[in-house]
Amino acid sequence: MRHFDAILIGAGQAAPSLAVELAQRGQRLALIEGNLLGGTCVNVGCTPTKTLRKSARVAHMARRAAEFGVLTGTVSVDFAAAMQRMRARVETSRQGLTGWLQATKNIDTIHGWGRFIGRDGDKFLIEVNGETLSADRVYLNTGARAVIPELPGIDKVPYLDNVSVLALTQCPEHLLIVGASYIGLEMGQIFRRLGAEVSIIHRAGRIAEREDEEISEHIAAFLRAEGIAFHLNSSVSKLIGEDRGLTVQLSDGRTLNGSHILFASGRRPNTERLNLAAVGVETDARGFIRTDAHFNTNVKGIKALGDVNGRGAFTHTSYHDQQIVLAEIDGEHPTGQWQDADKRVLSYAMFTDPPLGRVGITLAQAQVLAGKGQKILVADIAMADVSRAKEEDETLGMMRVIVDAESERFLGAAILGIGGDEIIAVITNFMATGASYRLMQQALPVHPTVAEFFPTLLARLRELT
Ligand SMILES: Cc1cc2nc3c(=O)[nH]c(=O)nc-3n(C[C@H](O)[C@H](O)[C@H](O)COP(=O)(O)OP(=O)(O)OC[C@H]3O[C@@H](n4cnc5c(N)ncnc54)[C@H](O)[C@@H]3O)c2cc1C
Repeated sequence: MRHFDAILIGAGQAAPSLAVELAQRGQRLALIEGNLLGGTCVNVGCTPTKTLRKSARVAHMARRAAEFGVLTGTVSVDFAAAMQRMRARVETSRQGLTGWLQATKNIDTIHGWGRFIGRDGDKFLIEVNGETLSADRVYLNTGARAVIPELPGIDKVPYLDNVSVLALTQCPEHLLIVGASYIGLEMGQIFRRLGAEVSIIHRAGRIAEREDEEISEHIAAFLRAEGIAFHLNSSVSKLIGEDRGLTVQLSDGRTLNGSHILFASGRRPNTERLNLAAVGVETDARGFIRTDAHFNTNVKGIKALGDVNGRGAFTHTSYHDQQIVLAEIDGEHPTGQWQDADKRVLSYAMFTDPPLGRVGITLAQAQVLAGKGQKILVADIAMADVSRAKEEDETLGMMRVIVDAESERFLGAAILGIGGDEIIAVITNFMATGASYRLMQQALPVHPTVAEFFPTLLARLRELT
């Protein structure tokens, strides 16, 4: 039986980097991946969607060309070429990862589905492709996949998820999307700009309802202006396949016709294949592997990283998980230089165009804290007031910062507008220093940039009542 210091199951955004780092520290490792190295992000998540988003943005800007004094003639999209560009980008990224792993000594990369079959004393026994392997430690990085609701008629309709939508060879005539959160909204705008009619069905009364109301409203307004239809407070109750497409029956009795339907209404953890019961690893009510803030499961020697632990749903959270694990191994305990999973400040972006950059708490969360007596300062500015946005003629959106009055530290920020996905890092990085916002006011920002408005924005801070 082959024995390893550690076995990593699932090659998402945590395991490959962790494997390379551990191998460089002299450990012997097996990295087991059942599908494609790089997991969701590289193959069917961030990389392909952000690549396709660029084609969609170029189409959008080409249609606006005359506003900038540029004449293009009629703009049309070569869907196959845009998809091919996306696939080439994915292929190159995956090849880069494969080459990196191959070039690292001490890692056996195994293609197959790994599952626990029990223990031999302190060692864990894992089966892959009919072979039993043993290891002192196991890192699970098996990720998540789209939730496909059990609906009447779903078995008779060729529905799409984030994997199959990226395999399309023709642009959908009318794409119905279930779910108006990050993935649904990004996909909706991309396919709209590539030429599809798009209708989005959403259970809540507003889109992206985890964001503040004004932010949701801004996003809904610019997506509607591009021709996307929203059906809010609605869910799908039945699907009926047609010769060319399908009919969807909504919870309020209305029907919608479309050529394709995409489910973007949540993600579920990939744990079924792991046979967790063989070693007694616990999951929570939603099926995510329960861990502490250092990613330890209830079984000593087994850690769970990335989306499968329910502590983050992003590439950077998964990658950060492995950085925390590594810092702990290297003796930089998470309570020191590194913040553990309960203390790190979450930042993320929604890559609509314009994008939303977010870090820390929302205004709604700040209001709860203010209600409990915490003194909070808030300031907003419209992108329409930002010179750079005006010069670019991309004035949609707003910026908001939230500060704790006593410590003068940032608690959160939202930047919806041109460059918001990049500019949010100004606040994210500043938050990591724990410094007073007043220091940022003294900095000398470049003109004309969106970021130069931070001092102006901070001068507007007012107490939240
Ligand atoms: C459409 C879309 C767009 C996204 N865009 C962004 C974005 O712009 N920015 C961002 O930060 N995040 C984005 N995300 C989220 C991001 O992709 C994930 O958070 C990220 O991939 C982290 O995943 P992970 O490391 O947990 O594992 P994953 O990347 O999901 O990989 C898990 C791997 O484990 C394998 N596996 C599962 N079970 C087993 C088993 N038993 N044996 C062997 N292998 C197994 C799977 O095949 C898979 O390859 C997006 C997601 C989607 C769906």
